[in-house]
Amino acid sequence: MKAVRIAHRTFALPRLPFWAAIFITAVCFVILALSGWREWTSRDVDLKNAEVDMANLARSLTQHAEDTIDLADATLIGLASRLETNGTEPAAIARIQVFLAQRKMTLGRIRGLFVYDETGRWLATTEGVSLTGLNNSDRAYFQHHRAVDDRQAFLGRPIKSRSGSQWIITVSRRFNHPDGTFAGVVLATIDTAYFTQFYRQFDIGPNGTVTLLSADGILLARSLDDGTLVGRDMSATSLIRDRSSRAPASAYYFKSPLDGVQRLSSFRFSEKYPLVLLATEAQDEVLARWRQGAVVRTAFVLALTLFIGIIGIYLVRQLFERQRTAGALAAKEADFRLLAEESSDMVTRVDLNERILYASPSCARVLGWDPAQLVGTPALAGVNPEDLPRVAQAVAALKRGDVEEAKILYRTRHREKAEIWIETSLRVTKKTDTGMVDGVVAISRDMTEHKDLQDKLAALATSDGLTGLANRRCFDERLHQEWARAAREGAPVSVLMIDIDHFKEFNDRYGHQAGDECLRAVGSILSTQARRPADLAARYGGEEFVFLLPNTDAEGCEQVGLRVGEAIRGLVIPHPMKLPSKVVTASLGGATAWPTDASALDGASLVGAADRALYVAKGAGRDRLVMSGQVAIWPQAKSA
Ligand code: GH3
Ligand code: MG
Ligand code: MG
Repeated sequence: MKAVRIAHRTFALPRLPFWAAIFITAVCFVILALSGWREWTSRDVDLKNAEVDMANLARSLTQHAEDTIDLADATLIGLASRLETNGTEPAAIARIQVFLAQRKMTLGRIRGLFVYDETGRWLATTEGVSLTGLNNSDRAYFQHHRAVDDRQAFLGRPIKSRSGSQWIITVSRRFNHPDGTFAGVVLATIDTAYFTQFYRQFDIGPNGTVTLLSADGILLARSLDDGTLVGRDMSATSLIRDRSSRAPASAYYFKSPLDGVQRLSSFRFSEKYPLVLLATEAQDEVLARWRQGAVVRTAFVLALTLFIGIIGIYLVRQLFERQRTAGALAAKEADFRLLAEESSDMVTRVDLNERILYASPSCARVLGWDPAQLVGTPALAGVNPEDLPRVAQAVAALKRGDVEEAKILYRTRHREKAEIWIETSLRVTKKTDTGMVDGVVAISRDMTEHKDLQDKLAALATSDGLTGLANRRCFDERLHQEWARAAREGAPVSVLMIDIDHFKEFNDRYGHQAGDECLRAVGSILSTQARRPADLAARYGGEEFVFLLPNTDAEGCEQVGLRVGEAIRGLVIPHPMKLPSKVVTASLGGATAWPTDASALDGASLVGAADRALYVAKGAGRDRLVMSGQVAIWPQAKSA
């Protein structure tokens, strides 16, 4: 249940990386969309500005064309009036010729003025040509005026001048005889080149054009013209063809049929004359600056978006990775928690201040405290003061990093029971990022029963079962230690060998059990006679005992021997066969040595000396102590 709860909490936001990815994608998309929208708007603004420029240009140039024709027409009106008043008699024509010669100076944009009689014959002109034989009755404007009796100026198609062979536009009027019949035509011509030159003065880009067309689609002048376009019939273009459905002036986007360039333009149909003016700019040129800026800005925005995208991918991956790690960690933690909490051993985690950070539930069974009562308390609080230095030393070594793990056995307080023995395995924990030691994990188990058993076994291994004295093995070990110590300290060591007299007979008389009882009684005497802490009474074997007396010289040994013999006798255990005392007695052999490091002697030779003294005591009548002399190397004894 707990493991499930932990896992659930960790995955509270399982779709976070997904939503982060959606968010970053949306941000990138919005940035791109805004930038695209802004660029499109700015493109539109540039086109609109160009449209306004072109509309203004078309308006003023239409006005200019109208003014030019008005100018020509004003001259024609005066000329026609003169002719109608003065007639076409040679004298009158001569005056007209003078008038024309004068006017030519001031004509400006008008190329030439002409007067034709009713047959089309040239009567007068500003051009310096011979008039004889010239006839213009074939011209469309002449035929128009001859057929139509009106007082309107007539704008003719562009034609090649007969006098100069250049392209010209004609403006003409009819004049009448006094009786109202057709008397002839007055004509003004304007070079199309004039318009072309004029239009070229405007800065509308290398591919921008200004075109003047007649209302029925004949091209009159174009700023970009090498002389081949004038007079071309453009009536098939949608501008002219769909004229009726168009406003008189408007913006107009088209691909030029003349040079294939996509243009934005503004056209204006003259209200006064059958003229249309088209001012255009190449769309590419209008948008060139915008395009240049747009490329730079878009590149910047794309780079920014790419950057955000890359950072976003990195963050999403980090999020995903972190979540995955957190999930794995939680699962791992759940497993370990399960292990810790279900284990019969007590698991604790201790920080560097030796405070308990975590205690597993089994601490209630091991120490009698609930985990909650232990968390935050000093980890070494209950340790027995005798064991504390050892435990503290082990923990300190772990914290310093001298060792990674340790095992210690010590006593500690239990909440209800008396002191218990605990065996603890300690291991350091390290920070995952820095690798520094950040605490210690301890796994502890109650070893009290085990320790008791161990103690018992240890006691059994060193003591004698019948008398409770140390056994021979224990004696041998102690003798070895004391011999070495005495050698270091330059102190004496004494040994007393004790053998009960005629014990076989005692056994025979009272039985083996009584014999054992007697041995126990003698054993207790010996243990009470071992007065110094270092003295050791041991059962050497059968009914033989041995007394180890460290730091005791021959005199002291003798005193102890006499005391022991006396005490045994003092037990007054009846022994009828033991004459003359009729009580249990013992014979004792004592020996003393002053061990040195260089000496060839050892503990065994000291025991041998005591044994020999005992043998002497037996031989001398028993119930006595015989002290061996100063123990020294005795070749005979060694070889015996
Ligand atoms: P001595 O005065 O010469 O020492 O005569 P002794 O009869 O004591 O001779 P010895 O020391 O050789 O005899 C040992 C006897 O001690 C043999 C055995 O009957 C008895 N004995 C040895 N060990 C035990 C024991 O554990 N219990 C009992 N009841 N008797 C033992
Ligand atoms: Mg014996
Ligand atoms: Mg004996």
